[in-house]
Formats: sequence, C-alpha cells, structure tokens
Amino acid sequence: MKAGSNASIRRFLRPAALPTPFCPGCGHGILLGTLLRAIDESPWPLEEYLFVSGIGCAGWIPSPHIAADTLHVTHGRPLAFATGVKVVNPGLHVVVIGGDGDLASIGGNHLIHAARRNLPMLAICANNETYGMTGGQVTPTTPRGARTATTLQGNPDRPFDLVRLVEAAGAGYVARFSVWHTRPLIRAIRRGLSFPGFAFIEVLSPCPTQAGRRNQLGTPAEMLRALSRRCVSIARARQMAPEELAGKVLVGEFVGGEDAGGRPDGSAERDS
Ligand code: SF4
Repeated sequence: MKAGSNASIRRFLRPAALPTPFCPGCGHGILLGTLLRAIDESPWPLEEYLFVSGIGCAGWIPSPHIAADTLHVTHGRPLAFATGVKVVNPGLHVVVIGGDGDLASIGGNHLIHAARRNLPMLAICANNETYGMTGGQVTPTTPRGARTATTLQGNPDRPFDLVRLVEAAGAGYVARFSVWHTRPLIRAIRRGLSFPGFAFIEVLSPCPTQAGRRNQLGTPAEMLRALSRRCVSIARARQMAPEELAGKVLVGEFVGGEDAGGRPDGSAERDS
C-alpha cells in the first residue's frame, strides 16, 4: 500500500468513529485527512504518537477518529496537558490539536509560553474563526466585520495574526496553510512532526454552519473557493503591492521552512 493513500490511512481510523461528527462541508475532515497522510509518511508508527485536544469542534479531530492514544482534556488546556506528558514520557511524539478558541483565546497564555520555551511538540490550530461547537461566538481570530452570535453588528476588533504571535514568542517552526492547500499542508505537518522544538501550524478551516450561514458565505464549496482566493503565498506576496494584499492572508512556512529566508512587510497580511 502506498503511504498516504486512502487505503493506507484507513487503518488509522477507529471504525466506531464513522460517520464523522462534523457538519457536512466542515473543513476539519480535510484537516484530519492531511494529518493522517503526514503521519503515514512519517518514520514513526502510530503507536509512538499521542494526540492531545481540548474542547470544541477541532477537539474531535483526533479523539473519536484516530486509533491511537488520545487525550481529550479541558477547554484551553491541551498544551498544558501535553507539556506534562512530554516531561514524563519524552519519547512520545506529541501532537496538540485545537481550535482558535481553544488555543488562541482560552488557551492563549499556554500557546505563547509553549512557543517561548520551544517545547518539543507539534501544535496544530484549526482556525475556523469562530466558536463553532458552542454556537458561533466571536474569537480572537474572527475577521473584523464578521457577524457572530456575540457580534451581531459585525466584529469591531482586529484579529490576532497567530503566525506572527507564535513567531515572536520564539517557536522554531511556524507555518500557515488552509484546508485548500492539502499537499503543502501535508509537507508542513511532516516537517512539524520531525521538528525538535515547538512547531506551530495554523490551518484555516471553514465552518459552514456557524460562520458560513451567519455571514451568508454560500455553500461549503463556495467557502472553500473563497478561501483559496483569500490566501496568497509568501513568495507571491513579495511581488504584490500593499493595496493588493489588503484582505489577503499569507500562507507558507514563516519560520524554519523553505519560505523562511525572508518575508514581506506583511502589514496587510490579516487585514480582513
Ligand atoms: S460547527 Fe462549524 S466547525 Fe463545528 S463541526 Fe460544524 S461546520 Fe465544523
């Protein structure tokens, strides 16, 4: 069986987890697929991994699906639990998966300190720009102007740029892609899995049910296409004027990867 193929990754899934708990069209299923493909192409068997997740839709990516050791913990605390696991069992390959509410809001403090300490683990933030599971409230990554359950007139605040936050805090590998960019995302996850320090990957993952309906963003397919148009690679952004970058999101490897030789000013990087 070819590593990374559908047939090969199927053995990583718990049969009882299907059908998936995600809403139809949710980006998190694509993220689960890319994660499993990266693991299949990694040098370590699934038994050597531990997946840690908190509360929220992204917390479901590992714990009901992956036939491995998983730790499904309290909201915002997966990095704290993962730190304890790593101290006790440094040989485990620890992968933390959380949403933007889990890792950047409630667990934001853990995120910056995990990066500052360069803890040896991979953290994947499935950023759907809302609290999906609890009803679509605003999060620190909700785009300015977006309507949520708690910002009915549109979000007045500037969103966090998680990549720049984690980079500034000291992470050794930092990347951002969306679920549209499956091949580069698989490569980034593979790099993150083998990185000896703190690796952070932000993955933009559309939420058709909460963010999509409330903001009339169309079908899941239309949301995916819109996401692809919103994203610009770091290399391409270097050739673009600041006004062309308005409303765009830069994707690529920001620290520790191929794109990390330099970066544009990025002032318009998360202007949405
Ligand atoms: S609420 Fe949104 S993020 Fe959660 S499963 Fe449904 S579509 Fe996915």
